[in-house]
Amino acid sequence: MGGPVVLSVVVPMYNEEEVIETTYRRLTDVLAKLGETYELVFVNDGSRDRTADLVRALGAKDERVKMIDFARNFGHQIAVTAGMDHTSGRAVVLIDADLQDPPELIPEMLAKWREGYDVVYGKRIARRGETWFKKLTAKAFYRLLASMTSVSIPVDTGDFRLMDRKVCDALSSMRERSRFIRGMVAWAGFRQTSAEYVRDERFAGETKYPLRKMVRLSLDAITSFSTKPLKIAGILGFLMSAAGFIYLIVVICQRIFTDTTTAGWTSLIVISLFFHGITLSLLGVLGEYIGRIYEESKRRPLYLVADKLNFGEPGRAARG
Ligand code: UDP
Ligand code: MG
Repeated sequence: MGGPVVLSVVVPMYNEEEVIETTYRRLTDVLAKLGETYELVFVNDGSRDRTADLVRALGAKDERVKMIDFARNFGHQIAVTAGMDHTSGRAVVLIDADLQDPPELIPEMLAKWREGYDVVYGKRIARRGETWFKKLTAKAFYRLLASMTSVSIPVDTGDFRLMDRKVCDALSSMRERSRFIRGMVAWAGFRQTSAEYVRDERFAGETKYPLRKMVRLSLDAITSFSTKPLKIAGILGFLMSAAGFIYLIVVICQRIFTDTTTAGWTSLIVISLFFHGITLSLLGVLGEYIGRIYEESKRRPLYLVADKLNFGEPGRAARG
C-alpha cells in the first residue's frame, strides 16, 4: 500500500456521472502541483447511474483513486463519514463532487494547516448560480442555528474543509446517526481558521439536495446541537396558562358582578383551534427528538459497504 499519505481528499458522490471525470482532472491538477503524496477517496453513495464504473476506470489507471461503494444511498453526511473512516492522510480534505467548491483553494488550506491550524474551513463570501430561495433559506438557517446552539458553528460554511488527522479521528469516533459534520467539527474544537472562497455554480448535473433533504439536514443540525425547541414547549405552556388564568378571573368577575355573559362561540373556536395547533406542533417537536432517539438506540452500523477499490488486500476494516 505505498508509503504514508500526506493528504487525503474525500469526495461523496450520488449520481455524479456527468462531473466525475472533470472533477478528477481538476483535483489531480491541483494535487500534483503540491508535490505531496495524496489519495482520492471517492464514496459512491448508492448512485443509480455510471458513477461507480467511471471511478473504477479511473482507479484502474491511477491507484491513488480509491472508492467505497455503498450498498445503497445513505445520504451525503454519512458518505462523507465513510470516506473519513477510510482515509490515512495526515490531513483530510472534504469536497463536493460537483466542483462548487474550488479545488484550487486546497493549497491555501494546506498552507494554513502547516502554520499549525487543525481545521481550515472554507467560508463562502458569495454564492454563484444558486436560486434566491436556496440562498435565503441557507442564510436564515445558519442564523437560526446560531441563535439556538451554544456550540458556535461558523456561518456560511459548508463541508468543504481541511482537517488534521486528529480531528478526523475525533469525528470518526463519534458514531451518532444524525450527523451534521460542520457542527461536529465546531464541537470538537482544536485550532480552527477559515479560507474564503466564492461558491461556484454546479458544473454539471442537478442538485442532489432537494428541499426534502435540506429540511432533514436542518432538523438534524438543530436536534443534534440544541434542546431549545423542547424548552420552548415549557415556556409557551407557562405563558398560555398565565394568560388563561387571567382570562378565567375576568370571566368569573363578569358572571358575578354584571348581567352580561360573553357571547362565546367565536372566541371558543379561536381558542380551541389555537391551542390545538400549538399542542400538535409541540408534539411534532417531541416526535423529531424521540424519532432520533429511537434510530440511535437501534445501534445499526452507519453504512454498509458493498465493495472497496484500491484499498489493498485486507483493507482497513470498515468501521460502520
Ligand atoms: N451527495 C451524496 N449523497 C446524497 C446527496 C448528495 O453523496 O444523498 C453528494 C453529491 O454527490 C455532492 C455533494 O453530496 O458531491 C453535495 O450535493 P449537491 O451538490 O447536490 O448539493 P448542493 O450543492 O446543491 O447543496
Ligand atoms: Mg453542489
